[in-house]
Amino acid sequence: MATATNTEKALIPQRLKGKVALVTGGSRGIGAAIAQRLAKEGATVAISYSKSQEAADKVVAQLKEEGVSAYAFKADASCQKDTAKLVDDVVAAAGNIDILVNNAGVFTYAPVQDIKVENYDDVFDVNVKGVVATTAAALTKMNDGGRIINISSGVARVTIPGYSLYSATKAALDTLTRVWAQDLGARKITVNGVAPGATDTDMMRAGLTPEMQAAMSEKTALGRLGEPEDIANVVAFLASCDGGWVTGQTIAADGGINI
Ligand code: NAP
Repeated sequence: MATATNTEKALIPQRLKGKVALVTGGSRGIGAAIAQRLAKEGATVAISYSKSQEAADKVVAQLKEEGVSAYAFKADASCQKDTAKLVDDVVAAAGNIDILVNNAGVFTYAPVQDIKVENYDDVFDVNVKGVVATTAAALTKMNDGGRIINISSGVARVTIPGYSLYSATKAALDTLTRVWAQDLGARKITVNGVAPGATDTDMMRAGLTPEMQAAMSEKTALGRLGEPEDIANVVAFLASCDGGWVTGQTIAADGGINI
């Protein structure tokens, strides 16, 4: 994870000063980059993780070194007791939540002829039930004018063989995003999604062969795979005052892979 240089700090706007952000699955990959970016913009940041304590502690240590108030909490997104406790822990440590980034996610590859019900549970429990449970808990402690950002995926709209269950979880998120935006408009809370294309993380390397990665890279208009920071930049915009008039949208952050 990149450390902010003084020059970078000077260039990055401080749009999130005084805000409290919770990023689920912030120990690695896209979530870690989002935590880092929101912190660079002045937010106090809490991250959750389920297994990678060492990685989570490293993210927090680095943020603290940069003078940011940062916290990591172990909370399995698929466990309702954990998600409720996570929100309580964040509020006790940092105060009411202004920005919730539902990033924690898992991938499963299962062609329909091989699908087992357990595959469904594994991926829906984290990617959908976890988002519903975390959001419901966070909303009881979220300030009006807050932000909810769901990390979706380009494959909610584009078919890849064997991706049906994973893609269906992200399509579900896109629908939740639209309806929640209506539900929460009266509280001036915006709800949006960011849909990454292939982005260089552990998940991508596990899900795509090197040949598939090369093909994806070639298919983007910009001629490369995404980096976690590419996604974090879009999340920061939506989390900030600059994104205040955007709600109910899922923004593709994919270098133009599907145009
Ligand atoms: P990643 O590298 O595998 O990281 C996943 C993160 O989620 C880790 O911090 C992990 O923490 C956490 N996590 C996993 N299961 C969890 C659980 N049950 N409870 C709490 N945290 C959990 O994945 P990534 O590529 O950064 O993906 C982040 C998000 O972007 C996901 O929602 C993914 O679906 C989406 N996305 C990724 C891509 C891509 O190409 N990378 C493309 C489109 C969408 P632990 O290690 O502690 O479990």
